[in-house]
Amino acid sequence: MSPMIRIPTPLRTYAGGESEGTVRASTVGDAMTELVQRYPQLQRHLYTDDGALRNFVNVFLNEEEVRYLGGDRTAVAEKDTITIVPSIAGGASAIDAAVERDLSPEEVLRYSRHLIMPEVAMGGQRKLKAARVLLVGAGGLGSPLGLYLAAAGVGTLGLVDFDVVDATNLQRQVLYGSSDVGRSKLDAAAERLRDVNPHVEIIPHEVRLTSENALRILEPYDVVVDGTDNFPTRYLVNDACVLLGKPNVYGSIFRFEGQVSVFFAEKGPCYRCLFPEPPPPGLVPSCAEGGVLGVLPGIVGSLQALETIKLILGAGESLIGRLLLFDALMLRWRELKLHKYPDCPVCGERRTVTTLVDYEEFCGIPQAIAADAAERGALVEITASELKERLDDGEPITIIDVREPHEWEIANLEPYGARLIPDAATLLTRRETRGSSPSSGAA
Ligand SMILES: [Zn+2]
Repeated sequence: MSPMIRIPTPLRTYAGGESEGTVRASTVGDAMTELVQRYPQLQRHLYTDDGALRNFVNVFLNEEEVRYLGGDRTAVAEKDTITIVPSIAGGASAIDAAVERDLSPEEVLRYSRHLIMPEVAMGGQRKLKAARVLLVGAGGLGSPLGLYLAAAGVGTLGLVDFDVVDATNLQRQVLYGSSDVGRSKLDAAAERLRDVNPHVEIIPHEVRLTSENALRILEPYDVVVDGTDNFPTRYLVNDACVLLGKPNVYGSIFRFEGQVSVFFAEKGPCYRCLFPEPPPPGLVPSCAEGGVLGVLPGIVGSLQALETIKLILGAGESLIGRLLLFDALMLRWRELKLHKYPDCPVCGERRTVTTLVDYEEFCGIPQAIAADAAERGALVEITASELKERLDDGEPITIIDVREPHEWEIANLEPYGARLIPDAATLLTRRETRGSSPSSGAA
């Protein structure tokens, strides 16, 4: 018999660049032996030292995995096809590798620095053009992501955001300029990205991603990139990706620290395998509360763009099953191995989450806190102008500022009798040494 053997992209380098070949064999085992004899370099990629097929390599006869047929001894017939499928990470393309779109002469010129690299070349660039990537969040991470993915020629870029550009965004959200302040982020982003690359189709989704709309919005995309800054959306994106079988390129930033990974339940762990439950509300501050160094989302978002492109090309080794930690202050990288958690509530064997839930409630914010406070008759929030009004009316209000001294220094309500607690001692020392303290302005 002369069955056909298909060799996956990541292994072709070890098979003389061949994508397929016929061998003479009567069983699957014989066919594989024949293949390895022809290309000895394949041996260590397919088999362990004691001759067992590596556990991340699957062999299919036509549509069936041979493990569920007769294993190595499965008989092969003349027109059969044997397909080797590495089951995790590796260079396996996340999206249908067969989908490619032709390039115009203009595009061939534009992407020439990609085309001369064998890892991209015409085939890879055509895959990029056929790819559909959804960016959830057009902020700090979404900025480099949008710019680099558009520039690289990802054919369709969806953007989810409903914010307006404000002045505090400009320190890190390089997608926007000063003249964009007050504009819808998606209007400004779409205009900028279409200028970066008019060959890219930009699809704005100007909505808050919710359990009701997430599956519908994510469904048409090949890769979802998580550029969110809050837990409810992060869990929502993860669960929706698991339910839809899509890779989720994850990035997060805080002050000087960044995290990057690729969660893809079909080939490795998901975000909930790592963090089954969100931290209690208030335990982990957001970037708005804790701050973030402006260049950090540039680094982390660029790594997410890189991983997205690799998934599309099927090039290199993906971050699936690995968590990359970056400490910008120490300039240090660490890599952790991630495992699929058998009891993961969304991708585990006995999964309990089979549909999208209410993620605000799941993360305990903000309704639960508000409801609890309202029950006790407490005031949850007061705006600066409300406070001013009440102070101007002569209401005897005691203002306690619980922020850090460096925050007090930016602006404070000392003229209204505000006191900084808990760090009063630091404040006193500073007043003695400097003689005065900065005054006025709303905190
Ligand atoms: Zn999981």
